[in-house]
Amino acid sequence: MGKTFAINDLRRSPAGGGVRAPVSGLEPGQDRLDTLARPLRDLRISVTDRCNFRCSYCMPKEVFDHRHDFLPQTALLSFEEITRLARLFADAGTRKLRLTGGEPLLRKHLEHLVEMLAALRTPAGEPLDLTLTTNGSLLARKAAALKAAGLKRVTVSLDAIDDAVFRRMNDVGFAVEDVLLGIDAAIAAGFAPVKVNMVVKKGTNDDQVAPLARALHARYGHAVVLRFIEFMDVGSTNGWRLDDVLPSRDVLARLREIGPLTALPATSAGETAQRWRFDDSGQEVGLVSSVTQAFCGSCNRARLSTDGQLYLCLFATHGHDLRALLRGGADDAAVAATIDHVWSGREDRYSALRTAATPTLAPAGERRVEMHFIGG
Ligand code: SAM
Repeated sequence: MGKTFAINDLRRSPAGGGVRAPVSGLEPGQDRLDTLARPLRDLRISVTDRCNFRCSYCMPKEVFDHRHDFLPQTALLSFEEITRLARLFADAGTRKLRLTGGEPLLRKHLEHLVEMLAALRTPAGEPLDLTLTTNGSLLARKAAALKAAGLKRVTVSLDAIDDAVFRRMNDVGFAVEDVLLGIDAAIAAGFAPVKVNMVVKKGTNDDQVAPLARALHARYGHAVVLRFIEFMDVGSTNGWRLDDVLPSRDVLARLREIGPLTALPATSAGETAQRWRFDDSGQEVGLVSSVTQAFCGSCNRARLSTDGQLYLCLFATHGHDLRALLRGGADDAAVAATIDHVWSGREDRYSALRTAATPTLAPAGERRVEMHFIGG
């Protein structure tokens, strides 16, 4: 878990006398830009730090075992607190909310939170794009309720089609077929196209690239869009080595064994995946190359940790404590001004600065925050 900055001091006047809300001067709907002129469009919300999988690249069993202290219930942001913050982020320009974790479907009554977030509107009166990333283990049970609550889209993580490889990767013996049943349920509930994320780790599941693409197309046709993610050096516990990364250009070479592909144009600014389409089948795939082709220049994402810390980068070592503000009685103007203040000072571009020679950029003695804590 990363260190956090208390930000109550932002509420003090420059003269140090008394406590008052800083005034950013920005109106709801007006773009907030960071130091690199990036707007705040996307908020990822980790609703739990717990997961029922132990993928070695994310929550390795040896670290996250029975001795690990997960957050107590009182430390978690409540649904009301999350919704209040999401409303203020929407005022600050956020258009997309992604619920994640940990495994978000482990959070009890998540559909109630979805319902609350689905009722939010941007300053222009538009609903937010409300999405969820899940390992799919509980999706068969929950897909219909999530859809009814107003969830718009679902992304499911699946790292192999070979059952033995997948069981080894999730390290709890979870079967591929049970994730596929979750995807079936999501499609039946009306979530098509469902995105499926595969993290590609060289020597572990890189032989699954073409087989997974073939199998998903055979089962789902255009109802599923597969995205391949380069294994990233998030957190401090997954033993990341550059040698374990299969660059997206090699993923593409493996996909070309299936048939020729053509690059597709980006659909939105800040899109993380480069999209490609198979010429023959029309099947779309995406490549997320955060290691070999960093996209920090267009990164418009903020992350809210399970306990209400605002992180400005997936690779951050420090968060900004919004929960302390909420629980300290700050009014909306004070919280909104703090969000503006923190975002306007953002200069993070970790992946762009990463080089093969310096595989870890966290300052000595500082640990990058773990991904399950701030959400993938
Ligand atoms: N439990 C949910 C799931 O499995 O999708 C949501 C949280 S998980 C942290 C979100 C996404 O991050 C998953 O697709 C996961 O594969 C990906 N992820 C986790 N660690 C990663 C790493 N080191 N490199 C690349 N992707 C990673």
